[in-house]
Amino acid sequence: MTVGALSEFLSAETCPLLVVKVGSALLVDEQGAVRADWLTSLVDEIAAARAAGQRIIVVSSGAIALGAARLGLPKRGRANLADAQAAASVGQVALAQLWAGMLGAHDLTAAQMLVTLDDLEDRRRYLNAAATLERLLDAGAVPVVNENDSVATEEIRFGDNDRLAARVAQAASASAVLLLSDVDGLYSAAPDSEGAELIPRVEGVTPEVIAMAGSESSSGIGSGGMKAKLQAARIAERAGIALGIINGTQPAPLTRLRETGTGTIFLPQRHDNARKAWLGGRMAPEGVLTVDAGCVAALNDGASLLAAGLIEIEGEFQRGALVSLHGPKGERLGQGLVEYSSEECRAILGLREGDQEAKLGYAPRAAVVHRDHMVSS
Ligand code: GLU
Repeated sequence: MTVGALSEFLSAETCPLLVVKVGSALLVDEQGAVRADWLTSLVDEIAAARAAGQRIIVVSSGAIALGAARLGLPKRGRANLADAQAAASVGQVALAQLWAGMLGAHDLTAAQMLVTLDDLEDRRRYLNAAATLERLLDAGAVPVVNENDSVATEEIRFGDNDRLAARVAQAASASAVLLLSDVDGLYSAAPDSEGAELIPRVEGVTPEVIAMAGSESSSGIGSGGMKAKLQAARIAERAGIALGIINGTQPAPLTRLRETGTGTIFLPQRHDNARKAWLGGRMAPEGVLTVDAGCVAALNDGASLLAAGLIEIEGEFQRGALVSLHGPKGERLGQGLVEYSSEECRAILGLREGDQEAKLGYAPRAAVVHRDHMVSS
């Protein structure tokens, strides 16, 4: 069963497991203090959902904003990576205490999970994180997840909790992800521009949908922005998970959603098998394989990618690496796990199968990217 409307996010029957992502701007005010009344109202709602039989995972931002205030760092701790990491390290302690205390007041046990991008890119570690989440939920805890910002370096960090929330939802096989934001949802153009309209329902994050989003976070406190939210929606939709964006600024945001139904829902688009959904949600390709038009047609028919169709290789990578697949005009086709290193790919580029052996000196594997290890965009 898939979730088809924002109102269905709020029922244990239609959405047995909901991931709620709380943005920094909702949790921490301009002065760096916790918005305690607001948070109390949300935790009341989470407790009510739990009592009604719905499982909840919280993805909570706010570590950097809280820590920056405590350390007196400029630009809310986002002046540079070292500041952000120091701020996160201080702020995460406060954040965990906050959630543990507030959930504890309802006799709910908070469980902290800090993950890095790499934890979810690596298949074994991803499955391990998934198993931990499942065990915590079975044991009745409320997982409170954040990125492990104090150790994640620039290249290997999510940087925003929107995509992290979608990835966590996928790992936990959640039914829906709700992004509580300081914007009402996706607008057809910049929200303050004339004629901009809130889009209530999106069926597939197409290039037209992406064009509607600006790149900046509206508040400047968090780091998400609509672009990151659309990337999160992309991860969710291909995993068969609904994603909602609502304005959570006012107290009791879930009750408001129940009453108004206002926001944007991104409907699930397909249900890839678990492994393909994980592959499609991976974010850090190490190279790009560009293929010719004939190869694009073959891939669209479900074929594997063969060396004969390759026209360009970018990046340095080893066998087994994640690579992006592009068509001749640079259009993104998908991504997959490559069967050859970048050096070997360059050597066999454009060659038919029979000529590859002479070039490499050994019998080649049939495909450069096998269809079982490939997902389309
Ligand atoms: N993980 C960051 C924090 O806890 C927030 C990232 C975001 O703004 O989405 O402060």
